[in-house]
Amino acid sequence: MRMKVGCHVSIRAGYAAAARTALRLGARSFQYFPKNPRSLAVKTFDRRDARLCQAFCREHGLLSIAHTAYPTNLAVDDPDLAAKTVRSILCDLAIAEACGSVGVVVHFGQYKGEAADPLYGYHLMIHTLNEILNQWDGDALILLENNAGQGGAIGMTLEELTQVRSLLDRPEQVGFCLDTCHAFASGMWRGDNWPEVAEKARKLGYFDQLKAIHLNDSVYPSGSRRDRHANIGRGAIGEEALLTLLQTAELAALPVILETPAPADGSHREEIAFLQERLALAGSGQT
Ligand SMILES: [Zn+2]
Repeated sequence: MRMKVGCHVSIRAGYAAAARTALRLGARSFQYFPKNPRSLAVKTFDRRDARLCQAFCREHGLLSIAHTAYPTNLAVDDPDLAAKTVRSILCDLAIAEACGSVGVVVHFGQYKGEAADPLYGYHLMIHTLNEILNQWDGDALILLENNAGQGGAIGMTLEELTQVRSLLDRPEQVGFCLDTCHAFASGMWRGDNWPEVAEKARKLGYFDQLKAIHLNDSVYPSGSRRDRHANIGRGAIGEEALLTLLQTAELAALPVILETPAPADGSHREEIAFLQERLALAGSGQT
């Protein structure tokens, strides 16, 4: 079975146009920002366009995920900002639902308060998530993404992700998105210990809730806690380790989204084709 490899695409021309762009690039999945990625402001969106996107994706077997805006932080301490964050993510969820997307990727919270007590960071995050999910009854999920550790020390381990999910009022509305660059930069994955990471993911039930992959190589070494994405095979993780990860049975049907630097023409067409080719070779080598 071919994996659902794809990339992040722009919604400049609308949601349905984004889906058409993805298909044209040879992608079988894509990610998009439902609204302005630099702001938490909500947006009135074109429902007809979103429905067209949904229909197009269904027709062509495309999977999509949405991504929350950059300023989103689930562990914010300021009540006004927390309320704004809740409204922003609810808007993202509504758009994702209308577009037929699997869910909305949200980074695990960043917390570096004065006392920097991680327990308080988790508490803030659980509170924000409960606020959102108690107002949400759609099918689109919140997809919690693991942190690289660049902006604070929480959210770098599978234990934290599964534990926070289990403490929510409605955990069934939350899945996970695994970012390979973040997993590597955080030190959780060193490139050569994937069997151990996968075993832990099974034991913790992480794989049961894993809904998407952000496939990125890393500019910096494992444990650096620096988040800079590199093109596949051009970074410190390397092609072989990334292919080993991708061949994990639990990942076979998931959207695999490239968030790597785009070449001059701005498209990931070649990187998607390269990856599909390598995956086909790796697959035939196994049988
Ligand atoms: Zn990511």
